[in-house]
Amino acid sequence: MKSLVIPLSSSEIQQVRQNLISWGKKHFRPFPWRLTTDPYRILVAEILLHRTQVKQMKPVYESFIARYPNIHTLAQADKESLHEALYSLGLRWRVDLLYEMAQRIEQDFGGQIPHNKKDLLTLPGVSEYIAGAVRCFAWNKPEVLMDTNTVRVTGRLLGWEVKDSSRRSKRFQKALAALLDHEEPRAFNYALLDLAHLVCLKRKPPHCNTCPLLSWCHFSKHEEELSHERTQ
Ligand code: SF4
Repeated sequence: MKSLVIPLSSSEIQQVRQNLISWGKKHFRPFPWRLTTDPYRILVAEILLHRTQVKQMKPVYESFIARYPNIHTLAQADKESLHEALYSLGLRWRVDLLYEMAQRIEQDFGGQIPHNKKDLLTLPGVSEYIAGAVRCFAWNKPEVLMDTNTVRVTGRLLGWEVKDSSRRSKRFQKALAALLDHEEPRAFNYALLDLAHLVCLKRKPPHCNTCPLLSWCHFSKHEEELSHERTQ
């Protein structure tokens, strides 16, 4: 029986999840912030990754964590030291956000990163995506992660047009929620992000021949039909 939300049956959804997760385990990108379940380290990484390339951010992140290994050390830092630590990434507003965020966590949450999404969203600089990423990657909570990458893969898989506004769309949100594996949300979301960066690339053509979702993908079937028509 087809799902009411997406054009796949529940057994197809199950196969999509299994294929994606087992592919993800083989192609996991082992960044330092992914080799931990410490919510502080994950939160700092998500804030630093915002509008910044991984290559540029990684060495800065590593020295930042060595200097400020937990929320208490960060809360004691002054803005000038933080600025010095993040100088090479630019975007001065990040310094203010991290400073204010650390003060709030110390004062309002007893130095613990809040588990609750509502509380996380009250922190400076924490968006819906960042709150979801922290909850999913730190505590394995079933969170839908909507960004241009996850929405691109979903749109291609289902044959839905992807626009700039799609990452705020309820339709895509529901589709990602229907696909999400509730037993292994962390593995599912890491795999989806890795697939978007390694296989289902933004620039066309994506590497469909090596994709674990190929059998169910609308985009690749459509491309195949078009190339067949072109050779007729
Ligand atoms: S088959 Fe191709 S278009 Fe479809 S999800 Fe995989 S890489 Fe993306």
